[in-house]
Amino acid sequence: MSIAPEKPLIDQPLSLLRGVGPKIEEKLNKIGLHNIQDLLFHLPLRYQDRTRVVPMGSLRAGDQAVVEGSIDLAEVSFGRRRMLLCHISDGTGSLILRFFHFSNAQKESLSRGSHIRCFGEIRLGKKTLEMIHPEYQRFSELPDIADEDALTPIYSTTDGVHQLKMRDLMQQALQRLSISQFALTEYVAENILSDNNLMDINKAVQILHYPPPDVSIDLLVQGRHPAQQRLVFEELLAHYLSLRQLRQKMQKHNAHALQNNHEQWQVFLSALDFSLTNAQQRVIKEIARDIEHAIPMMRLVQGDVGSGKTIVAAAAALMAITSGHQVALMAPTEILSEQHRQNFCQWLEPMGINVVWLSGRMKVKQRREALEKIAGGEANMVIGTHALFQDEVVFSQLALVIIDEQHRFGVHQRLALREKGNGMAPHQLIMTATPIPRTLAMTAYADLDVSVIDELPPGRKPVGTVVIPESRRSEVLVRVKHACSQGSQVYWVCTLIEESESLQCQAAAESADLLQQALPDCRVGLVHGRLKAEEKEQIMNRFKAGKIDLLVATTVIEVGVDVPNASLMIVENAERLGLSQLHQLRGRVGRGAKESNCVLIYQGRLSQMAKARLAAMRETNDGFIIAQRDLELRGPGEVLGTRQTGMVQMRIADIVRDQYLMPAVSMAAEEMLTRHESKVPHLIRRWLGDNIQYGQV
Ligand code: ADP
Ligand code: MG
Repeated sequence: MSIAPEKPLIDQPLSLLRGVGPKIEEKLNKIGLHNIQDLLFHLPLRYQDRTRVVPMGSLRAGDQAVVEGSIDLAEVSFGRRRMLLCHISDGTGSLILRFFHFSNAQKESLSRGSHIRCFGEIRLGKKTLEMIHPEYQRFSELPDIADEDALTPIYSTTDGVHQLKMRDLMQQALQRLSISQFALTEYVAENILSDNNLMDINKAVQILHYPPPDVSIDLLVQGRHPAQQRLVFEELLAHYLSLRQLRQKMQKHNAHALQNNHEQWQVFLSALDFSLTNAQQRVIKEIARDIEHAIPMMRLVQGDVGSGKTIVAAAAALMAITSGHQVALMAPTEILSEQHRQNFCQWLEPMGINVVWLSGRMKVKQRREALEKIAGGEANMVIGTHALFQDEVVFSQLALVIIDEQHRFGVHQRLALREKGNGMAPHQLIMTATPIPRTLAMTAYADLDVSVIDELPPGRKPVGTVVIPESRRSEVLVRVKHACSQGSQVYWVCTLIEESESLQCQAAAESADLLQQALPDCRVGLVHGRLKAEEKEQIMNRFKAGKIDLLVATTVIEVGVDVPNASLMIVENAERLGLSQLHQLRGRVGRGAKESNCVLIYQGRLSQMAKARLAAMRETNDGFIIAQRDLELRGPGEVLGTRQTGMVQMRIADIVRDQYLMPAVSMAAEEMLTRHESKVPHLIRRWLGDNIQYGQV
């Protein structure tokens, strides 16, 4: 081994390894591996146990096993497909090896009487157990070379760097690691290691790439081996630190200190036709306490659908506006931004506050006027979609940015809004209806403070949910008819098979026609993504005003839409939707005093996952429980959506499985930041590598 420069592994290029030329190096770079340390942190995805030869008599279908025996017969069979069948036995039982692709030479070599060792998955064939295309070695007599002496790691690979190559490179890297001058530097402070019972980093890496045979493969599979937990802890710590650092940097900027105007606040409250829940009041206080400082607020408000987040946003806006500043409210869809415009106009305009809406449907002249009002400071409250980010939108006094249903926005968009504060950082208030468990929030939102609206307005009744097959559609129609005749309003959501949006919209239009025919007394409306913003707005307003009984819609109504008189929701092809999407949809009903219902119609046979989702919907209305279930079913990457996709792609930690470590990780992080700050960048670099989040802040 050429151990050229006396540099730490992080500075040793991959080309120092045998078998790595420029081409392979480039391929490794592409999967984020740039040096030998990176390679060592490319941890196995899973393991195979090839350390024991299993007697054929004790094999079961589904096992992955090494077997050894002698070849009894090798024959080419000409069925529907030509294939090579090799019969082997070991005295305890027998097995067929089946090859669909084979060469003549291969066939010749598998001759009767020779010995073979193979590895593969056992399947149940027609007559006996089989292995299809096993990995094998042939010997002229039974070998007495030792079996593999460690569990075999399986790595994620890349085009041109296959499993065996990766294993070979890893062996070379491990050899370097075992030389003391190249040992990995310990960045986690000594006392954190001992307090948390964490083993030495070098030992942990060694074990995970080369687990001795006495290591429990079950522990490894579950991710519970101490070597894994050691690295999991460090990885979570690195991610957490990167978010805390981001926060620290953000908070070095100056923000406007805002003050609550008690008089105006009373005017605002007395105009509402309800009183705030305790949870709403508490969260409003938390916000008020943040924004009275000249440090930018970074607060996330979590609240289940219907918990009344909008009024909390309005309260925050009022504080900023009565302090003489502007507020931007960003919604994920046009429909929702229009709804916010209506609410904010109703709440704030009587108080002399100027609300301006920026919408995609504005005529050039209108738009120019709106932009002028925003730039001139005449507009106090600006509402729109992500169009608010465009360069031509210039604010004069922006002090607060509110982002509704933030799981639809990327972090980068948030950063872009920050640019709009004319040198001052706006306070940020982010509202989400995807509640996540507290320990998970600690990981995912470590850069934010979190407030929870954990109470629904009084009088809400849980939405009764039924799941029924498509074949009972006629019963659903009866139900819809009945609801309409009672003066209730109904959503009919078409979630379609088609990938293309235009086909989806077309299919929704057809459903609307069919429903109108089947229910001639109902006033049927249709809303979908292909309509012009103006048309959407008209339809939604007519539905709100009770002039439409049955609103047929695509999932455009998923987020935020608020029509309290609607009390029945039908979702077609519900099996196609994710759990949080279903919960969002169902959240459109159950907002008024009426008893509400939701009918989930499914088509065909349900997969296990779909069954689990629909069962969860039937069993609970609680967004936190749904979110937890969703996490278990889909994993955090999907659930947290576009936010910080980098952050949830961890190498070894699983933020659901390893949630329980978070309290200890956050304590360790504070300790690292206060007492060992110089080690922090190294730790982050080790785990986040190229993906260091949102780079420059
Ligand atoms: P979400 O949290 O899903 O955004 P909204 O802000 O749309 O919820 O509020 C849902 C409905 O509840 C709205 O009709 C709103 O006016 C009403 N609401 C909000 N707060 C209260 C309250 N404290 N008491 C009664 N109704 C409320
Ligand atoms: Mg909302």
